[in-house]
Amino acid sequence: MIKDLFLNFSLLIFFLFGFNRIQFILKRRFQNKFSILVGVIHGILGIILIFFGVHIYEHNILDFRQLAILSAAYFGGIRATIITGFMLIVFRFSYYGVNIGSIYACVTISISSIVSGLLSGWVKQYWMKWITMISFLVILTSYFTIYHSIKFSHPLYPIMPLYESAILFGGFIISSFIHFLEKSEQIKLALKESEERYRTLIETSPDGIFVQINGYIKLANKKAANLLGANSISELIGLYVFDLIDPTTLEESYGRYYQFINGEQKQEQKESRYIRLDGLKIDLAFSGSKVIYEGQLATMVVFRDISEQKEAERKLKQANHLLHKLSITDGLTGIANRRYFDEVFQMKWDEALVNKTSISIMLIDIDSFKEFNDTYGHLKGDKCLQQVANIISVNLLRDVDFSARYGGEEFIGILSNTNENEAKVIAERIRRDILDLKIPNLNANAVPFVSVSIGIVSLIPTELVDPKDAIDYADKSLYSAKSNGRNQVNLFSQNQLELLKS
Ligand code: GH3
Ligand code: MG
Ligand code: MG
Repeated sequence: MIKDLFLNFSLLIFFLFGFNRIQFILKRRFQNKFSILVGVIHGILGIILIFFGVHIYEHNILDFRQLAILSAAYFGGIRATIITGFMLIVFRFSYYGVNIGSIYACVTISISSIVSGLLSGWVKQYWMKWITMISFLVILTSYFTIYHSIKFSHPLYPIMPLYESAILFGGFIISSFIHFLEKSEQIKLALKESEERYRTLIETSPDGIFVQINGYIKLANKKAANLLGANSISELIGLYVFDLIDPTTLEESYGRYYQFINGEQKQEQKESRYIRLDGLKIDLAFSGSKVIYEGQLATMVVFRDISEQKEAERKLKQANHLLHKLSITDGLTGIANRRYFDEVFQMKWDEALVNKTSISIMLIDIDSFKEFNDTYGHLKGDKCLQQVANIISVNLLRDVDFSARYGGEEFIGILSNTNENEAKVIAERIRRDILDLKIPNLNANAVPFVSVSIGIVSLIPTELVDPKDAIDYADKSLYSAKSNGRNQVNLFSQNQLELLKS
């Protein structure tokens, strides 16, 4: 008998397994007729269970039809259980005839159909729903077994514990089984949804995306094909990513990639220059993350075109460079301006102070330039300033030299690591070269050509000397050159310096 009961139960489990697989499709296709369908299908199941039931006494059959009703209640509610119940009653009467066993069976079927249908609707929580339905079923069947036994003195008592345990145990098994099937179906569904979402995300992303394994592209989106100059996604599949990287950044990219793949870097976020399939170069900003693709460790690369941004950055850099250059050069002569001179002079002074090396300061002033302007006009004056500036700058071209327009028709030279003799030689050369230009200045005081007077001071800076004072000494020296007749170089002598120190 237990064997038969077990068989009956197996039929029920087998059915539930199948039903679970198709219920989602039925629900989608039949929607509000679903509960009717549930009722009919469970009705058929119940009939099969009764048909293969265990005959225990005359018209008493032991089977799991009641659990089929609970399953109908769970899936289709009261509408389903009424149909299931009705089908079972019709079958019971028509197959086994109208007898006392059938009547009792039909009464229990009716009550359990209605009550379990209602309970399934009322109780919302999954396990509570099953516990109440199973408990009610146990009470109901126990009551009728006892009642039946007393009334007809049928020896139903001995099988009662077995049957009730079977209902309890069976109920527990099928509720767990349905729970398990639904959960796995939900997981499958969630997985499918998440995969769909991920696919849509990749396909519709405004960024290029590809997945590569060991450098070979396995998956890509349209935007990736677009950015990398491919006509279709399939053209990208199988390409070796590093073949697309500009040789100038290839080695660095390799290194970065292996560091990243070996786990030394969490997420790669870099910029690289790629060569598109059509040969054009493109700057890309990209980030890579490790993913598992088809069971293998892969890298998902998300990238976007930053060529325009890069071009803008380059232009901005150029503009800044130009701006900086403009801010430090004199507009008329093109050599350094006073502002830049102040900056460089302080630097050179500090350097000489630290290294205890000599520094020479040279002040160069055009002689009788007022007369020049008065005689030849301001425009010619400007031109003359440019010529003089040019001579000065070509004579102060060593790494240690620096020249600037100090103001008006006055220029300044800073000669690091240069002693007074060397400075004097250079100054003489400047003076001569300017005179050699033979720019007429007929009304000049010294010679009828444009000439310059140069004042030099050479010293080794100490904490005691202020750099401004040093320029002042050069100015004093220039003044001497002027008062001595112009067109000459004058040195602020060591004696004068010593005198100032004492
Ligand atoms: P000294 O020999 O004593 O140096 O006499 P100087 O005439 O050269 O000196 P002064 O300071 O009397 O005159 C300087 C002149 O330089 C006056 C000014 O008009 C001229 N000057 C200053 N800056 C410029 C400039 O940018 N362009 C022109 N054309 N002239 C300038
Ligand atoms: Mg002058
Ligand atoms: Mg002057």
